[in-house]
Amino acid sequence: MKKGYFGQFGGQFVPQTLMPALKELESAFIAFKKDKTIQTELKDLLKHYVGRPSPLYFSRNLSSKLGHRIYLKREDLNHTGSHKINNTLGQILLARFMGKKRIIAETGAGQHGVATATAAALMGLECIVYMGAEDVDRQRPNVERMKLLGATVIAVETGSRTLKEAVTETFKDWLSNLSTTYYLLGSAMGPYPYPDIVRHFQQIIGQETRRQILAAEKKLPDLVLACVGGGSNAIGIFAPFRKDLSVRLMGVEAGGRGAPLGEHCSTLAKGKPGIFQGSYSYLLYTPSGQIADTHSISAGLDYPGVGPEHSWLKDLGRAEYVSVTDDEVLNAFQTLCRSEGILPALESSHAVAHLIKIAPKLPPDQIIVVNLSGRGDKDLGIVLAAGLGA
Ligand SMILES: *Cc1c(COP(=O)(O)O)cnc(C)c1O
Repeated sequence: MKKGYFGQFGGQFVPQTLMPALKELESAFIAFKKDKTIQTELKDLLKHYVGRPSPLYFSRNLSSKLGHRIYLKREDLNHTGSHKINNTLGQILLARFMGKKRIIAETGAGQHGVATATAAALMGLECIVYMGAEDVDRQRPNVERMKLLGATVIAVETGSRTLKEAVTETFKDWLSNLSTTYYLLGSAMGPYPYPDIVRHFQQIIGQETRRQILAAEKKLPDLVLACVGGGSNAIGIFAPFRKDLSVRLMGVEAGGRGAPLGEHCSTLAKGKPGIFQGSYSYLLYTPSGQIADTHSISAGLDYPGVGPEHSWLKDLGRAEYVSVTDDEVLNAFQTLCRSEGILPALESSHAVAHLIKIAPKLPPDQIIVVNLSGRGDKDLGIVLAAGLGA
C-alpha cells in the first residue's frame, strides 16, 4: 500500500508550507517507537496513571437479557473517563521527545481538550485548546476543567462556531508556530501520519481485549462493536482483530434524528468520499459541495468527517458501518444503567444500541465485545432534559 494511504483513502492534503512539519513528525514517530526508555515510561504511565489494563467485564445481566455472551471493554474506567487519554498521553511523550514546548489541540465537546490539558499538565507543557464558541457555551464544565488544568481555551467565532472551525484554527496556529509547537490531534484522522499515530496509541484497547477474551473464553469473539466519530476508539479495538476474518467488526455511527442530510452524522453509512481537513475519506456534503451540517445527541460524534482507515475497511467489506438514532441511544443508555449499574457515555451507548437491535437476529450464544469508550456523567444534563430518570 502506498505510504500514507489506506487504499485510495488518506494522504496529505495540506498547504505546502505544512509538509516539512508532517515529515518531521513522521521521522520523530519512527524514532520514538524504537526508543526503549520512552516506551518504558509510557507503559508505566498507562498502568499507574491511566489505570490500564482496563477490565473486560462479562456483562451478566445484559447477556441473559439478550441471549449472548456479552463483554464490555471498560475504557470508561480510565483516568479522565474515556479512551482519549491513551492517545493524548502517547502524543504528549512524542511532543516532549521532539523538544516541543507548546501543545495545541482542537476540541468539540471538550473531551479531547480535557485529556490533552491533563497530559500537558503532567508533563509541564504549555497547552492551548481551540474550541468553537458555540461549544464553549454548550460545554461549560469541560471549559472550566481545562482552565483548572492550566490550559488556555480559545473560543473560535468563525462559521458554525463548532469543531470543524476549531480544527481549521488549530492548523493555522501550527503553520505560524511550527518550530515550537506540537499539534496534538484527537482522532484517527487528518493528514498522514496522524491516522497512524492515533491508531498506534489506541490499539492497546484491542491488544488487551484479545488477551482478555482468550483468557475468559479460550477463543476469539464472534463480533466486536464500537461507536465511530472520528474513529479512534473503533480503530483501537478493531486493529488487533483485523486479520482474524472470523471476527465480525461493526462501527456504529450517529443516526441522529433520521435520514435527511443535516439530521445525522452517519458519514460512512450515508456519505461519499471527498477531501476534508487534510485527507481523502468519506464525508458528508451537500449536492453543491458544501460540508453538511450534522446532528447527534452525543457531542463527541457530531462531526461530518471520519478517519481514512475506516473508509478503506468499509470499501473492503472488512468492517460494517451502521447507524442508530438518538432515541435508540437513549434507550440503550437507560438499559445499561438499569441492568448493569453502569452509566455509559452517549457515544458508547450507540454501540450498545446497535447490539440491542441486532441481538435477536444473530445466531445464538455469540461471543460479543462492546467497546465502552467512556462514562456518561458528562451527559447527565442531556439525558435528564430528554426525560430519562423521571
Ligand atoms: C470523543 C469520544 C468518542 C468519539 O471519538 P472517536 O475518535 O470516534 O473514538 C467516542 N466516545 C467517547 C466517550 C468520546 O469521548
